[in-house]
Amino acid sequence: SKRIVIKVGTSTIMYPNGAINLQQMEKLSFVLSDLKNQGKEIILVSSGAIGVGLARMNLTERPVTIPEQQAIASIGQTELMSLYSKFFYNYGHQVGQVLLTKDVTDFPVSRQNTVNTFEQLLLKHVIPIVNENDTVSVEELDHLTRFGDNDTLSAIVLELTDADLLIMLSDIDGFYDKNPMNYTDASRFDTISEINDTILSLAQDSSTKFGTGGMITKLNAAQIVLGAQKQMILANGEDLSILFRILSGEKIGTLFS
Ligand code: ADP
Repeated sequence: SKRIVIKVGTSTIMYPNGAINLQQMEKLSFVLSDLKNQGKEIILVSSGAIGVGLARMNLTERPVTIPEQQAIASIGQTELMSLYSKFFYNYGHQVGQVLLTKDVTDFPVSRQNTVNTFEQLLLKHVIPIVNENDTVSVEELDHLTRFGDNDTLSAIVLELTDADLLIMLSDIDGFYDKNPMNYTDASRFDTISEINDTILSLAQDSSTKFGTGGMITKLNAAQIVLGAQKQMILANGEDLSILFRILSGEKIGTLFS
């Protein structure tokens, strides 16, 4: 696979104490830059704007009102991109910010404009870094304009860029028959070829403070990916060199294919 979308959750780039994990951000930029050097086309979907914004404003908890959260996301998104821009630059690569709303799936013109932007960025060997546009659409209120989670967003980005593979990095080694954070006897699926009601019933919420969708939104994403005849791999992002191993063909995590 030549064109790859990589999605990282907040837990991959933030410490549990709410501070930015610079080591992980630098490592991510290094690994993706090297994959780029190998000739792969890379698109990064990164969460973390609110987390980084809170850290930047010395806050320990999300503010209560939605406009305040939007402001934090705005501050955090700038800081997040500033960090990525510096790290990627150090490894010889340029990034471009792409902020999306559901418009891209609802309106053909918005969709085409987005496709055009991605194509031009990739043509110029720039690494697009994608997030939801929190200024235009907000959580809870706006189911019409908002994807609501970056798992679903990353599957849409896979479609828009006609990439071959979505690698979703989380704090868990794959998809299990029950939540491994709560059950020690949970066992991991190597491959899933269809998302049916039985599979959906095994997915639970996130058990971490940072996590948003848990396994449910990841299966939603997998459903979109499988519907588009493409592949998704869910793996643990704790050690980011896992990306090298996945792309050299090692069987790691859960493959949705
Ligand atoms: P991220 O922030 O990386 O997107 P989430 O915390 O939202 O990650 O989702 C991953 C979490 O989903 C796991 O840490 C685990 O607690 C939970 N989970 C629920 N059900 C399952 C399952 N069947 N298999 C694996 N993980 C599950």
